Amino acid sequence: MNIYTQSEIDGIGFTSQRSRNRLADNLADKGIFNQKVLDVIKKTPRHLFMNSGLSQQAYEDLAVPISCGQTISQPFIVAKMTEQLLHTKNLNKVLEIGTGSGYQAAILSALIPEVITIERIKTLHQKAVDNFYALQIKNITAILSDGDENIEKHAPFDGIMITAAINKIPQHFTDLLPDGGTIIAPIGETNKPQHLTLFTKYNDTLSEQILLRVQFVPFLQGIA
Ligand code: SAH
Repeated sequence: MNIYTQSEIDGIGFTSQRSRNRLADNLADKGIFNQKVLDVIKKTPRHLFMNSGLSQQAYEDLAVPISCGQTISQPFIVAKMTEQLLHTKNLNKVLEIGTGSGYQAAILSALIPEVITIERIKTLHQKAVDNFYALQIKNITAILSDGDENIEKHAPFDGIMITAAINKIPQHFTDLLPDGGTIIAPIGETNKPQHLTLFTKYNDTLSEQILLRVQFVPFLQGIA
């Protein structure tokens, strides 16, 4: 795997810096206030996390199909989840569940010292690993796992972001957090609107704040 050239990262036309700036302005209009998040959106080449045939849509505020029936999340949702997670005190290490394209992990890695991201589909995991290398992002550890294995040894995490729809937060994820730690996740059934929810752990229980309605692909068990 080669390292991307600066002109590949910069993009051209639909994938140019001007398109990234326009996306950030669009997100600000839609209510993303955190300037650090908007600056990272401007810097991160989303077109390199998508199939090149779809890169015309890279800087539209849309979820776009990647391989294996999965999607790269809508930029507004990526920005919103990131902005919410950044409210966590002492946010030094985060776990993302659902690497997918790796775009969300790349955004987190520009704002948080250490990112662990897990993905259950081997093809997507490998592609994301290659992309992190090509972009020379060094503070992401990508793991092939469905969340039941191989993550405890990296715990505790200050925050957890789940990017697939889940009915309920499993207790073993809560156990990976310290007091004051947060989880942001789309809660609800597949094929129905879910609620993006921010959980904060106090005295071993989670308090919850429902943020908005969203639509994510399902959280599934096992490696594929
Ligand atoms: N964060 C991604 C969006 C991912 S879509 C991005 O920025 O592109 C959700 C991803 O979660 C899919 O790739 C899916 O395979 C993965 N996923 C679903 N259940 C999972 C589980 N139990 N463990 C790890 N990954 C899971």
